[in-house]
Amino acid sequence: MSGGADGTGERAHGDGQEYAGGRAEAGDGTGALAGGHHAVVVVGGGQAGLAMSHHLTRRGVDHVVLERHRIGHEWRSRRWDSFCLVTPNWQCRLPGFPYAGDEPDGFMRRDEIVRYVEDYAASFGPPVLEGVTATRLSATADGFEVRTDGGAFTAGQVVVATGPYQVPVVPRIAERFPPHITQLHSGDYRNSSQLPPGEVLVVGSGQSGCQIAEDLHLDGRRVHLAVGSAPRVARFYRGRDVVAWLDLMGHYDRPVTSFDDPQAVRARANHYVTGRDGGRDIDLRAFARDGMRLYGRLAGVEDGVITFGADLRRDLDHADAVSESIKDAIDAFISAHGITAPAEPRYRPVWEPEDGPPARLDASRVTSVIWCTGFRADYRWITVPVFDGAGRPVHERGVTPVPGLYFLGLPWQHTWGSGRFSGVGADAEHLAGRIGSWSGSPAVRAPAPPRPRTPSGAGAAGGIGRAERIGVLDGAGGSAGGVEDPGRYFIHPELLGS
Ligand SMILES: Cc1cc2nc3c(=O)[nH]c(=O)nc-3n(C[C@H](O)[C@H](O)[C@H](O)COP(=O)(O)OP(=O)(O)OC[C@H]3O[C@@H](n4cnc5c(N)ncnc54)[C@H](O)[C@@H]3O)c2cc1C
Repeated sequence: MSGGADGTGERAHGDGQEYAGGRAEAGDGTGALAGGHHAVVVVGGGQAGLAMSHHLTRRGVDHVVLERHRIGHEWRSRRWDSFCLVTPNWQCRLPGFPYAGDEPDGFMRRDEIVRYVEDYAASFGPPVLEGVTATRLSATADGFEVRTDGGAFTAGQVVVATGPYQVPVVPRIAERFPPHITQLHSGDYRNSSQLPPGEVLVVGSGQSGCQIAEDLHLDGRRVHLAVGSAPRVARFYRGRDVVAWLDLMGHYDRPVTSFDDPQAVRARANHYVTGRDGGRDIDLRAFARDGMRLYGRLAGVEDGVITFGADLRRDLDHADAVSESIKDAIDAFISAHGITAPAEPRYRPVWEPEDGPPARLDASRVTSVIWCTGFRADYRWITVPVFDGAGRPVHERGVTPVPGLYFLGLPWQHTWGSGRFSGVGADAEHLAGRIGSWSGSPAVRAPAPPRPRTPSGAGAAGGIGRAERIGVLDGAGGSAGGVEDPGRYFIHPELLGS
């Protein structure tokens, strides 16, 4: 595998062209499509598109959801075998379908997540057309035209819910690695057995890089990890999951617009932590102590030698400092509210990098490289002028300046949870309100309830309220019933991640 030839360092479809979508993985017999007109066309059948459909269905708004593969494709096809959620199950609260399993504080594994998404669809029967790729979106005199590989649709309004993690990003340095090395992107990694025997270089220490490095390490591989600047967060602190503390403190309700620089908040890397084995920290220093080799950022590959930056110590210190600062904020919250919580000793580094010039790696030792260098969105099929200079959609909570055009599922679209299971439903509800009230294209009532396209699955009943589930205690051990002025405990934006 190699990087693209367009100078962006990324593999990409041909610029300015309708890209060739396919039905290769559709397999659901949608057959030939006639296209047609709908009040709303939703593009993308992941959790965001389904959440949108849920709210439109509830309001009786005529719509169709176009999905180029199958519902839940990303979770099913682009996650490794041992993948599990990093966010606790109770945060899976798709509208009308909160997690209802036995482990609200656990972390669903990949196949369970796929089932959750499929069951969600089965619970209300969204009008999804699977195996249909939207290849061009353009504005018309009275709305939009969505061209697809199965016919053209017209719509009064369109919601783009195609996900933020579409195109794997691989730096072009990949092209300079010796040919004996197998290269793949994190989206294609499944498990250690798909790699040739030998040592593995993992590039990137975001969520995926850390978890894949650990997966390989636990499988007995010799792993070399090129570390970046992603922060980390502890899994548990003072008796609770840190996510539960932050939820209680109001962090997940904070709108992105309340930060000085919303775009910077949106661009930040996720904190690394894992839900594996019931959830635990990821401490790269402990990996190093146990035999993994850590390096700074990947700098070059020359004459069979891979070189790295001199930034390992700084990045490890930074990751720990972020994690400890979050604990500081939790301590302050606990003490301000007189909450009874067990004391917990603070983190002490278990390993330090050696001083001196950065380590080098003989490329002949390595048989595989896994690029955990992220993804980017691909909006080249959208010809409506709605993007900023960096190619990002211009929007306010998903509502663009082009009447009738919306985005859903963007990271930090409105809050931390917008690009996740926890917050996408609230954003979908917000958009449904806008869609229903827009006078440019009165919503057409659906003639009949849409038929489910996925096998029926178990529904879920009853949500789990935040305070109720966590059991907020006041100083006297009673239920505090709410949190006063959560803004007082907001963590510095630097610490929040994307
Ligand atoms: C490695 C990783 C770990 C994550 N872990 C968590 C976690 O622990 N908890 C959490 O809440 N979130 C997590 N997320 C974030 C988020 O929940 C997922 O990215 C989720 O898949 C986003 O859902 P979505 O519906 O917005 O987008 P997607 O799931 O990407 O769905 C978009 C859909 O649109 C379809 N599509 C795209 N283009 C077209 C087109 N032109 N025509 C038709 N269809 C199209 C795609 O096939 C896809 O099915 C994680 C993300 C990643 C990458």
